[in-house]
Amino acid sequence: MSVWAVLAAAGRGERLGEDRPKAFAKLGGRPLLAESLERLDASAWIDEIVIVAPPGWEEPAILLAEELACSKVAACVAGGETRAQSVRAGVAEVGKDAAVIVVHDAARPVLSDGVMERVLTGLNEGWDGAVPALPLVDTVKRVRDGQVAETLPREELVAAQTPQAFLAPVLREALAGDLAGATDCAALVEARGGRVTTVPGDPRLLKVTDAEDLELVTGWL
Ligand code: C5P
Repeated sequence: MSVWAVLAAAGRGERLGEDRPKAFAKLGGRPLLAESLERLDASAWIDEIVIVAPPGWEEPAILLAEELACSKVAACVAGGETRAQSVRAGVAEVGKDAAVIVVHDAARPVLSDGVMERVLTGLNEGWDGAVPALPLVDTVKRVRDGQVAETLPREELVAAQTPQAFLAPVLREALAGDLAGATDCAALVEARGGRVTTVPGDPRLLKVTDAEDLELVTGWL
């Protein structure tokens, strides 16, 4: 029974304003991708890794894995137009022996083993999926044409992060369906009736979106 990780790194990262995809933006002198890749490879919870690279960047991603002496990288594939399409391409490379698939965003470099343990414990408790989540501090409103249409009950809302862990057959089935509009894997599983729980997230799992985030994360490292 093995645990496979799919590392989604195929985003363009246009908001970073660099001449290269976000996964290859520099974080502390190394490509952003290096941080989460190295942490996944070092994690005792993870057996094998599939990297989903930006199209045309598969070779640099493989070279990076070799440079870092990552021994768990089983495959590296090109991603798709959307995150869900990229994850679908990555999961297609996951071995048949996988009991669990953990999907992680390379854009969240500061991955800890603690959060990995929490999502995998969620699965052990009988859930189809487990995602790290943080409570919201702001009040969330639905706005249409400049007018607030609704204020959502904050106590029911959380912000979902990655790594997200799923029973392998459940995630494979979810990815076989319609991917439109899904911004995370859990949404696809939920849409098919899968039972997904939340576990405490980590503020340091911030998703790097712009240059300020890169600076912030560099400070943490
Ligand atoms: O675009 P966003 O920052 O939300 O992407 C979250 C994660 O999904 C990033 O790690 C990014 O590389 C990945 N992604 C991908 N394929 C896409 C879009 C995003 O692998 N087409």
